[in-house]
Amino acid sequence: MGTQDPNAMKPRLVRCPACGGDSVYGPGNRFRPFCSERCRNLDFGAWASEGFRLPEETPPDDQSFGDPKLQ
Ligand SMILES: [Zn+2]
Repeated sequence: MGTQDPNAMKPRLVRCPACGGDSVYGPGNRFRPFCSERCRNLDFGAWASEGFRLPEETPPDDQSFGDPKLQ
């Protein structure tokens, strides 16, 4: 067993919640705990589609044709 140096600036590896791969949990990885921006977006997308759906907006279809001025 080795002694742990609290001052060691070793990057900590965690498991990326999105892909399950290694992710650097440190200041160098601004997407932590995800390994990359892609994984962060993936996870965010999954979270967003899980019951937090935005209602689809239908474009207004009541455009009136026939300008009275053109008659
Ligand atoms: Zn990942």
